[in-house]
Amino acid sequence: MKKEFAVIGLGRFGSSICRALVEKGMEVLAIDIDEDRVNAFSNIASHAVMADTTDEKTLKELGIRNFDHVIVAIGDNIQASILTSLILKELGVKHITVKAQNDYHEKVLSKIGADRVIHPERDMGKRIAHQIVSNNVLDA
Ligand code: ATP
Repeated sequence: MKKEFAVIGLGRFGSSICRALVEKGMEVLAIDIDEDRVNAFSNIASHAVMADTTDEKTLKELGIRNFDHVIVAIGDNIQASILTSLILKELGVKHITVKAQNDYHEKVLSKIGADRVIHPERDMGKRIAHQIVSNNVLDA
């Protein structure tokens, strides 16, 4: 059976994850509070819905607990990111990945029980630095 994913927050990061999952042939539900962002994904994702994911009732109605993996890509609104992640955890979502905006945010998400917390700018910065150093070593 195909794995089912939900991506919450369709900013640059969430959009990119959503597109990549669709390209890999996955079933993806795209969710955002912003109607324009949702409309932009109506032809890309398997389903696209406008919803405020800090509302537990809405998440229940979407049947979010049946998804295999939910990615929370709400960045700037840290409060909404934390509350959404907490509700997902309480509803028993099997696997939750959350984008953190800063170290404090990351700490809270880990405490809540997010399975994976990512910090794209920091993680990519580290990776690029490693690559630069290893290229220099090879060039030397
Ligand atoms: P990025 O850094 O990935 O480009 P961004 O700066 O474009 O992100 P953010 O403010 O980090 O945007 O939020 C990402 C998306 O999350 C936005 O499209 C925003 O509408 C959505 N979002 C914010 N709050 C909620 C919420 N409560 N429920 C659902 N979506 C939300």
